[in-house]
Amino acid sequence: MKKILITGGAGFIGSHLCKKLLDEGNDVLCIDNYFTGCKENISSLFDNPYFEVIRHDICFPLYVEVDEIYNLACPASPIHYQHDPVQTTKTSVHGAINMLGLAKRINARILQASTSEVYGDPECHPQEESYWGNVNPIGPRSCYDEGKRCAETLFFDYHRQHQLDIKVVRIFNTYGPNMHPNDGRVVSNFIMQALQNIDITVYGDGSQTRSFCYIDDLVNGMVKMMNSSKNITGPINLGNPTEYKIVELANAIIKLTNSKSKIILKPLPTDDPLRRKPDISSAKENIDWEPNVSLDDGLKQTIKYFQEKI
Ligand code: NAD
Ligand code: UDP
Repeated sequence: MKKILITGGAGFIGSHLCKKLLDEGNDVLCIDNYFTGCKENISSLFDNPYFEVIRHDICFPLYVEVDEIYNLACPASPIHYQHDPVQTTKTSVHGAINMLGLAKRINARILQASTSEVYGDPECHPQEESYWGNVNPIGPRSCYDEGKRCAETLFFDYHRQHQLDIKVVRIFNTYGPNMHPNDGRVVSNFIMQALQNIDITVYGDGSQTRSFCYIDDLVNGMVKMMNSSKNITGPINLGNPTEYKIVELANAIIKLTNSKSKIILKPLPTDDPLRRKPDISSAKENIDWEPNVSLDDGLKQTIKYFQEKI
């Protein structure tokens, strides 16, 4: 039985990861400050004696004994991370320093939940890990993008300087149950709007693209990466390479929900990336991973979750 720390464990991805690692027979310690996560996401795990939760902000040091650390704590939706941008950068940077310091002290393996946002508004398509990105350092998305880039720098410096056993995954847009209904991300927004038969808010002309990965596929990839051999540090892209225009996503959700909603166009937010699609050859080759849940199947599960919420 491994002792595993998950920061941000009460969030969308973290809650699924807690469950999967408990199901696999591990002892899981979740830490979260509940900025965007909630107890409801993990309440079904409270009866498990191998599950513990600590309310804690990773901007402050933490001393616990574990074998592995998954560092997920950080708001992920643009509305949330732009709400308190200074805290967002602190969470990425001070949080990474604290978790890396802990990993070094207790000699634990540590995985960073990085993001496709390190590529910014990419000039190279699809994005492969060797691409250095096109990121605005002073815009409204920078607190998140540059914070995550700096966290990657820290991970690789701890690896080179202190031989720390690191893993870095760059997560592309992921969706599924336990997303916050009001977090402003596109899948949750469109499903909530469609289920209530209110206007679906497409930003810009809807021709910008994203590639959507279902949560079960993603957490499988994260665990595979954590369990990979020591020489595989990443960064590795984890995402679904099937690319959709945002307007196509809106139409797919209208159809699956039999909604009467109409699409309306709203201004495109500043620095909104125009295209995003992962090249996952490295994940296939190094950790034998690729997603296998189709958008239709994943959306059906997610719609069911939001229907029950409403
Ligand atoms: P989320 O907002 O649902 O979860 C983040 C969790 O971190 C929340 O429970 C929140 O309360 C917690 N948290 C935030 N700041 C904290 C702090 N200072 N100390 C302790 N806990 C803190 O987001 P998510 O979608 O589950 O994302 C999880 C991770 O994956 C994030 O690091 C995010 O950057 C990364 N990621 C997610 C996506 C995606 O599509 N969901 C894409 C790329 C990267
Ligand atoms: N988007 C949209 N309507 C919404 C929410 C988002 O058209 O109600 C668009 C947004 O402009 C972006 C894409 O959907 O182009 C994905 O947005 P999200 O916030 O989910 O994630 P991002 O990939 O931008 O971080």
